Amino acid sequence: MDARPNSPEARDIRYHLHGYTNARKHQETGPLVIEKGDGVYVEDIAGNRYIEAMAGLWSVAVGFSEKRLVDAATRQMSKLPFYHDFGSKAHSPLIDLAEKLVQMAPVPMSKAYFTNSGSEANDTAIKMIWYRSNALGQPARKKIISRKRGYHGVTIASASLTGLPNNHLSFDLPIANILHTSTPHHWRDAQPGESEEQFSARLADELEKLILAEGPETIAAFIGEPIMGAGGVVVPPAGYWEKIQAVLSKYGILLVADEVICGFGRTGEMFGSQTFGIKPDIMVLSKQISSSYLPISALLINDKVFEPIADESDRIGTFGHGFTGGGHPVAAAVALENIKLIEERDLVGNARKVGAHLQARLRKLASHPLVGEVRGVGLIAAVELVADKATKAPWGKPAALGALVNGFLQQNGVISRNMGDAIAFCPPMIITEAQIDALVDAFERSLDAALPQVHPQG
Ligand code: PMP
Repeated sequence: MDARPNSPEARDIRYHLHGYTNARKHQETGPLVIEKGDGVYVEDIAGNRYIEAMAGLWSVAVGFSEKRLVDAATRQMSKLPFYHDFGSKAHSPLIDLAEKLVQMAPVPMSKAYFTNSGSEANDTAIKMIWYRSNALGQPARKKIISRKRGYHGVTIASASLTGLPNNHLSFDLPIANILHTSTPHHWRDAQPGESEEQFSARLADELEKLILAEGPETIAAFIGEPIMGAGGVVVPPAGYWEKIQAVLSKYGILLVADEVICGFGRTGEMFGSQTFGIKPDIMVLSKQISSSYLPISALLINDKVFEPIADESDRIGTFGHGFTGGGHPVAAAVALENIKLIEERDLVGNARKVGAHLQARLRKLASHPLVGEVRGVGLIAAVELVADKATKAPWGKPAALGALVNGFLQQNGVISRNMGDAIAFCPPMIITEAQIDALVDAFERSLDAALPQVHPQG
């Protein structure tokens, strides 16, 4: 870190409160200041280059230097820098994007609705679901079932859906009407000898018992990520989504697929819902929709959701919800161009092909003394680190080993993130096999560097 009093690092410490950072520790450690990007690489202010193995925040599908997105933004910025969709107004990028998304959806969808972040989109999903229940004359149907370790955002309602302690502690969350059921993590939570199918059946049974205990007429929706991302890249076990959906249909409960990470190719299909046979009523999209070059998110809703909302808005006089920046023309133009690039360059195919290489290389590390589990699909993966492979025990405090290895990884030229003791990999979807090799080689060196500290006796 540059210790001069007016260095960017010093000014960051002086003026900036970071998201997802220990604010007290940050005053000592300071920031890593990223200055520019090029393909799958970013460069810090001191000129060090890194493979961005998280695609920023699971989001920069097309890499960090895509001129066509810059040009799309510039063109739209010159033509119409802002407009909105309140009071029946519209503009071309918004209409084009709505049409494109509805046509891309893997299940019949009726309408797109635009928001600015994943959190806003999930808040909006909850509001639409509540509004719908009232429209249907079922005012008691307001509870939403989410999952422990699920991640759905940080606004008051979406943070309540999120099933991670750091998003609730000291924020007085979750709010009422949000329930959390078990994480589908077979490796961590299955009973001895329990197969993936048996474990999935047990979780579906637990869900049904929860619904019956609460009263089925009070449950409005279930929300889940096809693969849990921020909760540690938890890939659902065999049969999970099929069995969960059977329970939801039995009680007429809506299904929301939070595709904020999985959407637009990450799992080797355009949507995670396709990879896992999910048939959602609402899909939540963000991140790779625009490669995060600009903030934009969207909900796709089917007629089961749209029709009652239309009736209720007619009864009241308006659908009293909307964001100033929702469907922003510049962000929408960038999203359209980004989706075009994903299709033209077959980045979904690349996620499948190069993703298979990533998964195979990581699975070769399963025998490493610090590796508990390797999991992932396509271009999303995590390696869960343990001090003791037999007991799956962590090294001292949970997350200590994850942080140690992640630190070595950064020194070795790779930016990743540790979710607890799981090191995640979610690189830009343009990544090549050679770049995957460089990434995994650096990870292997980082594991070996941590080993003597974890097992000093060898
Ligand atoms: N849902 C999922 C699955 C996410 O991964 C995220 C962000 N990591 C969100 C919602 C929230 O998105 P945002 O940070 O844009 O509010």
